[in-house]
Amino acid sequence: MRLDVFSIFPEYLAALDLSLVGKAAKSGLLDVRVHDLRDWTHDRHRTVDDTPSGGGAGMVMKPEPWGEALDAVAPVDGPAQPRLIVPTPAGRPFSQELAYELAAEPWLAFACGRYEGIDARVAEYAGERMRVDEVSIGDYVLNGGEVAVLVMVEAVARLLPGVIGNPESLAEESHSGDGLLEYPVYTKPTSWRGHDVPDVLLSGNHALIAQWRHDQAVRRTAERRPDLLAAWGGVVAGKDDAAA
Ligand code: SAM
Repeated sequence: MRLDVFSIFPEYLAALDLSLVGKAAKSGLLDVRVHDLRDWTHDRHRTVDDTPSGGGAGMVMKPEPWGEALDAVAPVDGPAQPRLIVPTPAGRPFSQELAYELAAEPWLAFACGRYEGIDARVAEYAGERMRVDEVSIGDYVLNGGEVAVLVMVEAVARLLPGVIGNPESLAEESHSGDGLLEYPVYTKPTSWRGHDVPDVLLSGNHALIAQWRHDQAVRRTAERRPDLLAAWGGVVAGKDDAAA
C-alpha cells in the first residue's frame, strides 16, 4: 500500500518509521512518502495560510499549495488516483470498520490541516478526481491533522497482511468481529501483589476459558459501552449461540 502524507510539520510523521509501521515500510509492505506542503509555495516566507473569508479569528490554509501538491504527487492524467483522507473534527467518525475499508485501498493520501483548517474548496476540487473522505478521530479538537494521521495509519497498517506477526490476534480484538470490547488479559506470574490470575485461565479447559472470556467481554461492553451492545445486539446473540 502506498501512503502519501502532506503536512507543514513533516517531522511530526517521523513516528511512522518506528515499530510495526516502520517495519512494514522497511519490508516493502508499505510505501510511505511524507511531503512538506511548503515545497509547493512560491513566496519568500513559504506562506500556506491567509485570513478567513468573511472575517473572524484565526487563519485558513490557502488552496493553491494543496492544489499543486496533489497535482505533483497524483497527476490529473496519471494512471491512478489515491483515496484522499482529510482529517477534521467536522468529519465522519473514524472507526475500526473504516480502518478495514481503507486497508483494502492500494493508495491513500492524507492532508494534514493546521490553523482553522484547509480552504473547503480543496476537498471539493479533489473530489472531482479522487475519492475524498473528511474524517474525525474523535469529538475533540487537536492543533493539527498529523496526530490524527498517525492514529489512522497505525489502525490501517496493522490490518495489512504480514504486518502483525499473528493475524489471529486481530480476530478477537475490541471493535472487531462480534463488536464486543475485548475481555481482560493476564500473563505470568499467576499471583502479583495480592492480585491473582482468575483460576479459570489456569484450568486448561479451553471451552470454559472461551465461555469466561465471552462473558467478560459482554460484561465489560455493557458496563463501559452500552451503546456498542445496543448497536451489535443481533451479533451478540449470535455469539451467545456459538459459545453455548
Ligand atoms: N476550526 C476547525 C473546527 O472547528 O472544526 C478545527 C481546526 S483544528 C485547530 C486544525 C486541524 O487539526 C484540522 O484541520 C484537522 O486537520 C486537525 N484536527 C483537529 N481535531 C481533529 C479531529 N478530532 N480529528 C481529525 N483531525 C483533527
